[in-house]
Amino acid sequence: MKIPKEIKLYCKKCNKHETHKLKTAKARKARADSFGTRRFEKKHKKGYGGKAKFAIKPKKQTKKPNFVAECKKCKSKKPFSIPKRMKKTELA
Ligand SMILES: [Zn+2]
Repeated sequence: MKIPKEIKLYCKKCNKHETHKLKTAKARKARADSFGTRRFEKKHKKGYGGKAKFAIKPKKQTKKPNFVAECKKCKSKKPFSIPKRMKKTELA
């Protein structure tokens, strides 16, 4: 699906609607000592019998696209996503 590069969104800093630039969002690295990773290591890696079996789940064929929207006036960024699954996205 083709998505426009620039859209009008509400900006918290400017307190009104402004044009925003869209970029595809990259996945962040998981923090080493966050609670989630510590729980995961406890369950799957640490101690006796620390190897849990992963159930094999069928993978989904599509993804919901995630973007980062940057305000053109004040350059503040915020996440922007389309809550629909689609195979291909293209910024045009
Ligand atoms: Zn702004």
